[in-house]
Amino acid sequence: MKDEYQTIIIGGGVAGMTAALYLKRAGHSVAILEKEAPGGQITRTSEIENYPGILKIDGPELAFKMYEQVTTLEVPFIFQEVISLKLENDSILIDTKDHQFRCQNLILTLGRNPKRLRIENEQKLSGKGISWCAVCDGPLYKNKEVAVIGGGRSAIEEALYLSKMCAKVTLIHRRDEFRAENTLVDELRNTSNIKLLTSNQATKFIEKEGRLYSLILEDGSELKVDGCFEFIGQEPSTKILKNLDILDSEGYIEVDKNYQTKYSSIYAGGDCIKKDLYQIVTACADGARIAEQILKK
Ligand SMILES: Cc1cc2nc3c(=O)[nH]c(=O)nc-3n(C[C@H](O)[C@H](O)[C@H](O)COP(=O)(O)OP(=O)(O)OC[C@H]3O[C@@H](n4cnc5c(N)ncnc54)[C@H](O)[C@@H]3O)c2cc1C
Repeated sequence: MKDEYQTIIIGGGVAGMTAALYLKRAGHSVAILEKEAPGGQITRTSEIENYPGILKIDGPELAFKMYEQVTTLEVPFIFQEVISLKLENDSILIDTKDHQFRCQNLILTLGRNPKRLRIENEQKLSGKGISWCAVCDGPLYKNKEVAVIGGGRSAIEEALYLSKMCAKVTLIHRRDEFRAENTLVDELRNTSNIKLLTSNQATKFIEKEGRLYSLILEDGSELKVDGCFEFIGQEPSTKILKNLDILDSEGYIEVDKNYQTKYSSIYAGGDCIKKDLYQIVTACADGARIAEQILKK
């Protein structure tokens, strides 16, 4: 495996893959390092209906199309998790568990991860009834009863998705109003097997025989469920950058209008920077603009 490139991209989501596409088509030497599957967050959603030019597409399918596009261009897509970074003279050293890479420019497209409730038994029952991905785990609960926690667009979309396969979905939201378009909220209210439990929240998960058995709610009641899906927001996946002093108080990477961090060779874009709209098109746009900045150097 080659270990030196003009540019290395950490994070093979849509932002990282778009940056790679633009760089490689311009003849630049570039590689992507990715710790999980190509596509990042879009692999966790079922229906994308706001990607221009495509009426409706499955998240994993769009991820695969982008992966196919960059690998057809022969961009190395290296499945390794980056654990640390170091700046050295004119280059950047990137360590994964068993390999070291070197580059002149680094693009950070690390994305975000789902926030957790951080209540009793959550960690223990993760993957044993508690999930953060309806597309991945929804089919395990066919004809069963599940809870969805959250009140934003993602929680509503995923509750609707789960209602198509589960017998019953209880949506638990700590407020009494939802943060989403009216059409989506109307669809939620009109779906017969979705029950809304507003102004309430889960305080504890109960385990039985090594799996999730029920939720204890703030009002003291117990809700028996086969599965629980949490959609309470996202946090940036930027822990590996703590020693570089480029994060704001919420953990997002600070960049200027050209996506440059305080280091002239390190850029960041996509969901790991602070912005108004966290969507596929904006992440792709960030990736393309970062590539242009590097090509102009
Ligand atoms: C449930 C859900 C539904 C959504 N629906 C839509 C929708 O319908 N339309 C829309 O436009 N947007 C939607 N979004 C938002 C959209 O998916 C994101 O804005 C976009 O995918 C962000 O892309 P990204 O490349 O910036 O980050 P991500 O997709 O988060 O990718 C970051 C990648 O970096 C990798 N990574 C992180 N740390 C490391 C490391 N140390 N080493 C190696 N790799 C690392 C991760 O594994 C990940 O693959 C949805 C999001 C969710 C969660």
